[in-house]
Parts: sequence; C-alpha cells; structure tokens
Amino acid sequence: MEKIFDVKLSIDNQSELCKLLWYQNFTPNDWVCYRCGFNIFEEIQNWNFKTWIDVHRASSEHVTGCPHCCRSYCD
Ligand SMILES: [Zn+2]
Repeated sequence: MEKIFDVKLSIDNQSELCKLLWYQNFTPNDWVCYRCGFNIFEEIQNWNFKTWIDVHRASSEHVTGCPHCCRSYCD
C-alpha cells in the first residue's frame, strides 16, 4: 500500500481508533516524541532504513510508542 503522510489526518485517525476500541490514546500532546524530537506521524530516514506511521497505520494500529526511537509512551 502506498504510504500517505498527513499529520493532521493521522492524529484524527488515531483518536478515532482509540475511541472505537476504547484504547487509551498514548500519542504525545504535540505529536513530537519527547525522547528523539521527531514527529511520530512523519517518515524519518534512519541510516539505511525508514521509520514511519502513515495515515493507514494510524487508523489501524494502536500507537503505544515512538516508531523512530521505540520509546514507549505507556509505561
Ligand atoms: Zn522517539
């Protein structure tokens, strides 16, 4: 599936998913990881691989940590 990045839409998708499934929304207040400083809903190039949460993942996966540095937000 083609990756689509839209921070605003990802935020909406994740909060919808959490509402729907009664999950706690763990995403940081400004959607910027407090450990690595990257926006969790953007794609980051890490050496030879990329880390990302696009709009599709934001609507289907419960975000419990940072995709870039793997910092957990739920402990
Ligand atoms: Zn991070």
